[in-house]
Amino acid sequence: MSSTIDSDPAHAAPVAASDRRHRAWLRCIEGCPTTLPLDSTIYRCPTCDGLLEVAHDLDALRLRSPAAWMKLFDDRYKRTLWPYGSGVWGKKEWVAPEVEDQNVVSLDEGGTNLFWAERYGRKLGLSDLWVKQCGNSHTGSFKDLGMTVLVSVVNQLIRQGTHPIHAVVCASTGDTSASLAAYCAVAGIPAVVLLPRGKISTAQMVQPLANGAMVLALDTDFDGCMEIVQRLAEEPGIYLANSMNPLRLEGQKTIAIEIVQQFDWEVPDWVVIPGGNLGNVSALGAGLLMMQELGLIGKLPRIAVAQAAAANPLYRSYLKGFEGGLRPVVAGATQATAIRIGNPVSYPRAVRTLQRFNGVVEQATEDELAQAAARADLAGLFTDPHTGVALAVLEKLVANRTIQPGERVIVISTANGLKFPEFKIKYHEGALAGVRPLLVNRPVELPPDYDAVRKAVFDR
Ligand SMILES: *Cc1c(COP(=O)(O)O)cnc(C)c1O
Ligand SMILES: [Zn+2]
Repeated sequence: MSSTIDSDPAHAAPVAASDRRHRAWLRCIEGCPTTLPLDSTIYRCPTCDGLLEVAHDLDALRLRSPAAWMKLFDDRYKRTLWPYGSGVWGKKEWVAPEVEDQNVVSLDEGGTNLFWAERYGRKLGLSDLWVKQCGNSHTGSFKDLGMTVLVSVVNQLIRQGTHPIHAVVCASTGDTSASLAAYCAVAGIPAVVLLPRGKISTAQMVQPLANGAMVLALDTDFDGCMEIVQRLAEEPGIYLANSMNPLRLEGQKTIAIEIVQQFDWEVPDWVVIPGGNLGNVSALGAGLLMMQELGLIGKLPRIAVAQAAAANPLYRSYLKGFEGGLRPVVAGATQATAIRIGNPVSYPRAVRTLQRFNGVVEQATEDELAQAAARADLAGLFTDPHTGVALAVLEKLVANRTIQPGERVIVISTANGLKFPEFKIKYHEGALAGVRPLLVNRPVELPPDYDAVRKAVFDR
């Protein structure tokens, strides 16, 4: 963990930008004049209580040409020079320029493959469908992209010794806690996670336990955990790791940059993304807008947010043209447990993103998400229920001609299917509530007898 920025050959190249320090800070999304340093331990605007976002010194970033940025990012992509081979830290100047290399806590996040969903897409009548496999990551979800940034900033704060930090805390529907626990374990920072008892998968429960986090299982839902954790984060020495904290979104923003980069800097027509607390869709939008502002891309894709019908406050608000703002709902049971959220913190960010990207919101029932997941699995994927929600929504948008057959579509797969074995097992056992399984595949149990095996194979 010792390479310095000067040892990066791309960095050492004679570019004017190297003279001007890249800077980022926090500001209120409602436009208050307040600004705060990137490493503040405040998560809402002190003036209006609005959400905060990270702002970058775009003039400094403009000193490097769009072509030079693209070359720099391409030169670093998945290479070995630490930490620039990470999909997040390869874009460090755009993410968190003031974190020093030796303070970065990275597990080589990002750089995930784009799966060309050729057979599945063809069934839907799409020829250019891709699934961005964000779940192929250290802890099995896209949450690693944001957590590396947050934990690196905390690590820098601790090493500088200016703010005492005793623990990093989060409320979670499972994946955030797994990611926080892993990154904190790497850095030796205590982590505390609040989970809704009995509402997450076994794998998600085991991850933070294995990584030594303090796991508090509360008899409530995610929204109940979120209320408590926000209060806890007001205590001295407690740092908040939820996506209300805009540092997470800066890392997640690189999903947008990476997708465009993987298409040789071409912009797709559509991005479909599952949404719960709505930080990730906002991050996706922020990454695209930053590329546009810095001249790397000339157009924007449309964005579709996919929600589970059991937890659909954004969908309901969208149907009313976002008039009257967010009406929180009590989120019902869904296989898509990571998006079982009734009162999404980043709602105001998501509405802005949807308005900017000519976006749509659609929902999927339990039956729809499970069938879509099973259909995609038959074409080689291993779909988690949240990606199932996104695929079901994709199918609806194709069916109602919102998405046209020739358009290039990217579906953001947010987690690895291996984290949700109960979902898969129960589907194929026909035991999922509200689901009429059409694509069941069961093991054929046989005695260890050649003729019985031969007969079974040839019968099929
Ligand atoms: C966190 C999460 C989401 C939702 O992301 P938000 O930023 O909360 O909208 C979707 N899918 C999975 C698997 C997640 O872990
Ligand atoms: Zn404000």
